[in-house]
Amino acid sequence: MPLIALEHVSRLYTSGATEVLALDDVSLHIEAGEMVAIMGASGSGKSTLMNLLGCLDKPTDGRLLVDGKNLSELSSDEMAALRRETFGFIFQRYHLLPHLDAAHNVELPAVYAGLNRRERRERAVALLRRLGLGDRLTHRPDELSGGQQQRVSIARALINGGRIILADEPTGALDSASGAELLVLLGELNALGHTVILVTHDAEVASQAKRIIELRDGRIVRDAAVSEPVGQPAPRETAGLPTVSDGPGHWTAPWREALTMSLTALNGNRLRSVLSMLGISIGIAAVVSITALGDAARTHVQISAQEASASKLVVAQSNRNLPFGAPLQSLTARDAAALRSLPGVTAVEPHYSSRVPARYGRNNDFVTANGVVGGDIDLNGQIIVQGRDIADGDLDGRSQVVVLDSLAKETLFTSEESAIGQRVILGALPFTVIGIVQPAYVKDSLGKPYFKAQGTVYIPRTTYATKLDTGQDTDSLTVHFSAQASIELFREQVRQRLLALHGGIEDFSLDSNEMLNSIFTGLLTKLSGVLSAIAGISLLVGGVGVMNIMLVSVSERTREIGIRMAVGARQRDVRRQFLIESVLLCCLGGLGGLALPWLVAQIMSFVFPGMPLAISWEALGLSLCACTAIGILFGNLPARSAAAMSPVIALARD
Ligand code: ADP
Ligand code: MG
Repeated sequence: MPLIALEHVSRLYTSGATEVLALDDVSLHIEAGEMVAIMGASGSGKSTLMNLLGCLDKPTDGRLLVDGKNLSELSSDEMAALRRETFGFIFQRYHLLPHLDAAHNVELPAVYAGLNRRERRERAVALLRRLGLGDRLTHRPDELSGGQQQRVSIARALINGGRIILADEPTGALDSASGAELLVLLGELNALGHTVILVTHDAEVASQAKRIIELRDGRIVRDAAVSEPVGQPAPRETAGLPTVSDGPGHWTAPWREALTMSLTALNGNRLRSVLSMLGISIGIAAVVSITALGDAARTHVQISAQEASASKLVVAQSNRNLPFGAPLQSLTARDAAALRSLPGVTAVEPHYSSRVPARYGRNNDFVTANGVVGGDIDLNGQIIVQGRDIADGDLDGRSQVVVLDSLAKETLFTSEESAIGQRVILGALPFTVIGIVQPAYVKDSLGKPYFKAQGTVYIPRTTYATKLDTGQDTDSLTVHFSAQASIELFREQVRQRLLALHGGIEDFSLDSNEMLNSIFTGLLTKLSGVLSAIAGISLLVGGVGVMNIMLVSVSERTREIGIRMAVGARQRDVRRQFLIESVLLCCLGGLGGLALPWLVAQIMSFVFPGMPLAISWEALGLSLCACTAIGILFGNLPARSAAAMSPVIALARD
């Protein structure tokens, strides 16, 4: 069985409307151990043939068999494996990766073959020594001469065994001395058992081979042995390195390799990497700072609210946890008295308010009657438009005087009538009108103010408590207690006492400014949520920036991608590398972004020790997760486009 067999192979290039038949019905056998030169004028199809032989490309027609395997039946991964294990490529322009040193360039095919670090380093060093480059291991390609670079690429071709060496115009870019040296080297490799196929347009170079195949316009016009009969097999791989085929390897190994390669690539393009990280940094810094500030503000509000309500507890009727329609006991004077007897209580202040019938002449309606002391109306923000407020004398004398709001006035009087000095009946008692106020604003559930539809009247609290027959119910009680007591403990005491009085039903609620507090905290949460979302958008913008840079990087590095594929990288290896590169960019950017708020937090906690502002481990973890997600999200497209590239086209790009 021939090592390579071409049966009626054609290769048609179609680009748009034009078609080029680069190979036209080529049939050819190459045996193991041969040294073949492919000759022909420029454009005769030599490189096309070479690419087919090296499994970089597939024929459009005919069959190509390598080791008996039909190429058109292989998947792209299997083709990559074949390139990795069987072939070694030597290109006219060396095609070394510029940011890797000689040894790492040589190691590359072994990386994709899954050889462990130590072993592949040993092989690379041994090969480079054998090729006279033992003192150039850490030199990068631009620090090496052309001949040295070509020898590095030979070492690279040999590291996985290199049973078949494919050299496309290997001397094309070399001076004649280096070229001659290279040919001697190829001859030696052939003598060691490597099959060597070389493309040249130079007859002298070709004369080194044992067989010359000449192409013209995509057809074979000559196929002749030079010195020995065609197809005489030489001994196979007597002294070459054993072939490397994919070992089981640890599953993390390819990721580690991709990480190393990505770091090298990022390092090779430092300024650009840093600039594209900056977008992510700003996004992360914004999100983290705003979240941290929001948290700090909330804590601050909670602490100050606790301080403000420390010595005051408001007991209100009803409780929103109570099931709908449950029986409700009102707060009574008995409750107030019971609470007053609790230890630590300094005062219990009931707030009186109830609905009573009001009548003047023939007009009557229900109004809300409030028991107040002088100044309460002012405190409520209402303005007395006529007459006067409740005075101390009214309270002392339990006078039957009343201040109407203008709604109550309109209900009971006609617009021409003056209410001041008139007597209205509240419940069953006559009250003298002493003042008129503007109606109170009430706020609806959305916080919009509206005027109540029904009137409100204000009478002295003493009168309310003693004379207005409303069963002495109160809307709420404010319990004042000495500041030493703990609010939590005190609240529990009050709760237990009231529960006992109300038969175990919690039809009341205890509030230490917590309503306001929770509204405020809720508002802050919403606000910082919205701000974080806006900051999150800047993070996305950063992600788009990373995607953009990655796309540029992919198109700039097509040659690198082509080289990696030629030495045996699978599509997924290429995808993985670019994906990791993008994740790395994002995560490094994210860490940079965390440094700023961290610094601010350090300074803040130094300047305002009371305001705890810190970057938690959760924030760190979450940020890194977010960065990874963004890296994957925005790196996916570039990584895919890199992996989808054809090695031939990628290599042809310069
Ligand atoms: P050689 O290596 O002998 O100079 P090639 O194999 O590179 O020749 O090219 C053979 C013919 O195919 C040429 O006419 C060339 O223009 C054409 N060709 C090569 N590669 C492509 C491609 N990717 N797309 C279209 N035409 C191509
Ligand atoms: Mg060519």
